[in-house]
Amino acid sequence: MMRTKVVFILIISLLSASIKAQDIQAMAASSVKRVSASNSTLSTPTNIPEDTADVYESLLNTQQDDLMESHPADDIYNDIWSSASINPYKIPASKLPKTFTVDCSNFTMPLDMSKARISSNYGRRWSRFHHGIDIAIPSWNNIYAAFDGEVRIVKYQRRGYGHYIVIRHDNGLETVYAHLNEPLCKVNDKVKSGQIIGKSGNTGRSTGPHLHFEVRFIGNSFNPTKLINFRTQKVHAQRYTLRKGKEYNNLAAKKYKARKRRARYHKVRRGECLGKIAQRYRTSVKRIKRLNRMRNSKIKIGQRLRVR
Ligand SMILES: [Zn+2]
Repeated sequence: MMRTKVVFILIISLLSASIKAQDIQAMAASSVKRVSASNSTLSTPTNIPEDTADVYESLLNTQQDDLMESHPADDIYNDIWSSASINPYKIPASKLPKTFTVDCSNFTMPLDMSKARISSNYGRRWSRFHHGIDIAIPSWNNIYAAFDGEVRIVKYQRRGYGHYIVIRHDNGLETVYAHLNEPLCKVNDKVKSGQIIGKSGNTGRSTGPHLHFEVRFIGNSFNPTKLINFRTQKVHAQRYTLRKGKEYNNLAAKKYKARKRRARYHKVRRGECLGKIAQRYRTSVKRIKRLNRMRNSKIKIGQRLRVR
């Protein structure tokens, strides 16, 4: 019995040692800077079973959900609003809808390309994956929000992104702006497309002033050049359709928990206000108002409110 225990502990410690070795390798690989990606197009993940129950597909295609038309972000992101990480969703590409059309009509180029040039493409970089595109630009130039949206993350990462910002856009995309010298917005700020959100810089793991720019859909990055023509500083199309296996990659989402999002309703009782109801369902007054298309916060007893 004792011997089995010893062997077991030995195996465990060997396993953890090998994991550590892998981590160290990964860290070593990631410290290799400025390797130009050989290919900007993304290889299609091959091991995704076709018949996987596609919760997101069903939720995105429900006919009753006409809110998707005007403000898809709330529904897509399933009320997950976290400033902790870039991808708190952990939804693998296999769970994403086959196609998703993004309204790109209010796009603004995040920086002035006449002062900038692309220095590194999206895609594989040795054993690491480069989730964005690097655009060399001198420090202290304006960085603009690409679309209307809400600031989800403003953080500093000394060994990584430096000062960086993540914005969730109303159209369902999220964008990341990294290595800034100075962020000029706060978490939960509402931003308009073209609004100055920060100043370019050289913070974090960066060898020269540049903007690291990412475009993500439910946490999954895709090549920004698919959406944006960096030469003309315009989007390729006003309505851009993302396709599974083309734009989505599966690298960011190893572990996941699919949460089925169902509409939930609440009947207003005496003495209740929106704040109280929002608290009860762990949501915000703003989201309830958006879900019910309310202009003000007036509610009536007996009124049926959608809360999720
Ligand atoms: Zn980069």
